[in-house]
Amino acid sequence: MPGAFDVSREQLAGLLAGEPRFRTEQVWRGIWERGDLPQDMTDLPRSLRERLRALLVPALEEVSRWTSSDHRTTKWLWRLADGARVETVLMLYPDRATVCISSQAGCAMGCSFCATGQAGFARHLSAGEIVEQVAVARREALPRRLGNVVFMGMGEPLANYDRTWAAVERIHANLGISARHITVSTVGVVPGIRRLAQEALPVNLAVSLHAARDELRNRIVPLNRRYPLSVLMGACAEYLAAKNRRLSFEWALIAGVNDTERDAAELAELALPLRAHVNLIPLNPTPGYAGRGTAATGAASFRDELARRGVNATVRANRGTDIDAACGQLAAGQPPAAAGSLRPPAAAGALRVAH
Ligand code: SAH
Ligand code: SF4
Repeated sequence: MPGAFDVSREQLAGLLAGEPRFRTEQVWRGIWERGDLPQDMTDLPRSLRERLRALLVPALEEVSRWTSSDHRTTKWLWRLADGARVETVLMLYPDRATVCISSQAGCAMGCSFCATGQAGFARHLSAGEIVEQVAVARREALPRRLGNVVFMGMGEPLANYDRTWAAVERIHANLGISARHITVSTVGVVPGIRRLAQEALPVNLAVSLHAARDELRNRIVPLNRRYPLSVLMGACAEYLAAKNRRLSFEWALIAGVNDTERDAAELAELALPLRAHVNLIPLNPTPGYAGRGTAATGAASFRDELARRGVNATVRANRGTDIDAACGQLAAGQPPAAAGSLRPPAAAGALRVAH
């Protein structure tokens, strides 16, 4: 049984054979323009709604949902039809929202500092499973507009290229979030970056760098042994030349590992020629990695050192650390350590755990 967001228009027409023709368009628009599932389509006759409910099942079954103590970050844990688990994070800002989505259950890239990498790889997500995360978040964000989609949840999107790209196309064409507001984050899958450069839609590219010399990057990002920095920077240059979108480098600041003046100098050498923007994120704690995040003062001096060398850099605020929803903390396993101390959000009812 395909999930609602995996069904093509033709398949939908087949499912609705025997119904008046306009129903296909009506249901299609219900799914794509409103992000509705059949049970929400109150403009359909009840019998048809019931029939569709059995045919167009949601791909994501909510296992749990946590909301941060400031109510601005929500994390869902989903169970997929085969039991695989993934997480999605919605971040609210005063007048808009951003969703951080997963492209795989787990990840095979094995970055030592990342909770998803520590858990290993389960499987790729389908395009519909990716898109449905956006549709759910879009509804949840209302009345705010869901303005941005970032592939910074679980998994390596460019290791699941075809489904990721099919999802991007649908999010752009059908969910009203243009490619310019979609960011694909990669640890450096060079063939994927090259393919991305050939696509018609211009998405933003974020490259998770974390180290700007091979010897160090080999240790913290194993994929670097396959695609060393010189090759990776070549692919970034190709992307830039083809798309002219802003390139960003992600850098998890790890105390004493990649936060020294030398690291800033090496990073500046890579970032300057590509006019890359650097996002600095003090490392978030994960169970399987002993390193610590750089303290706020150290992060600020690293940023200043980059600025002195002409590189634009921002220290990113950590969102949702108290519910393990921050970058690199998604493991889709245990409830967050601090979950018991959370207050329920004012509007949405309760902190819902494992119903
Ligand atoms: N696989 C892709 C996208 C998912 S990871 C990638 O690696 O880019 C999303 C971001 O979280 C990446 O920039 C990743 O490097 C970062 N990240 C992983 N673990 C982290 C941690 N413990 N603290 C801070 N950022 C982390
Ligand atoms: Fe995978 Fe990205 Fe985590 Fe590395 S940082 S293990 S590529 S999800």
